[in-house]
Amino acid sequence: MATIELDRLVKRYGQTTVVHGIDLSIQDGEFVVLVGPSGCGKSTTLRMIAGLEEISGGEIRIANRVVNDLQPKDRNIAMVFQNYAIYPHMTVAENIAFGLYRSTLSKSEKRQRVEQAAETLGLSHLLERRPSALSGGQRQRVAIGRAMVRDPAAFLFDEPLSNLDAQLRTQMRIEIKRLHHRLGTTSVFVTHDQVEAMTMADRIVVMRDGHILQVGTPLELYEKP
Ligand code: ADP
Ligand code: ADP
Repeated sequence: MATIELDRLVKRYGQTTVVHGIDLSIQDGEFVVLVGPSGCGKSTTLRMIAGLEEISGGEIRIANRVVNDLQPKDRNIAMVFQNYAIYPHMTVAENIAFGLYRSTLSKSEKRQRVEQAAETLGLSHLLERRPSALSGGQRQRVAIGRAMVRDPAAFLFDEPLSNLDAQLRTQMRIEIKRLHHRLGTTSVFVTHDQVEAMTMADRIVVMRDGHILQVGTPLELYEKP
């Protein structure tokens, strides 16, 4: 688990500034949702935390360490994407184990991690299946499993539910929260969906045009006049 701190974080594409020096302190174990309309800079912010996008200014600290110049793989965080990013030619077990690609763990330790993640996610009976034989929710769980086996200090979720139908979305919201309660891993979750923000967040960060508009608990932001 880890704290994540953004200090005057800036992103420019050419002449255009899309993240305008935002400050944010995320506590150890906190589930923070970045919410706001399409194009407001949520995904760019998340990708900068992950190290998938270079920063134009400011500082990012994960577990009190400045990570500005660290490769994604050295940041000890795991991303869960909207498009699953799972491989059709691999089984569920192989897809989950891919999170440990290049890890120095022994074979048996890797297998143990994969089995543990599969059990936590209710995938134990599906380990030999290919993704084509899975439901949308099961595929999403495989993607989460791949992130989990890395035992990351933080999870970063980039609109992971937006490709799912309404019923599955509700179910996965609950499952992700249950997982968070169980693991207690610091999580940053990006969505344009206010219901997701309200029902999942410990704290909501409302973004507009590359700025942070408001920060508060769901109660503070939505129950007040
Ligand atoms: P959100 O996740 O809130 O929908 P993004 O972070 O994806 O928003 O995008 C923020 C802004 O940055 C948008 O105006 C988008 O068009 C712009 N943008 C994103 N990626 C690039 C890029 N590679 N080059 C130029 N502009 C980009
Ligand atoms: P290790 O951290 O043990 O060296 P790698 O980082 O080399 O393993 O894994 C290979 C690639 O897969 C890296 O680019 C890593 O960032 C990426 N990767 C695998 N699973 C995930 C995940 N869930 N989230 C983010 N990146 C991942």
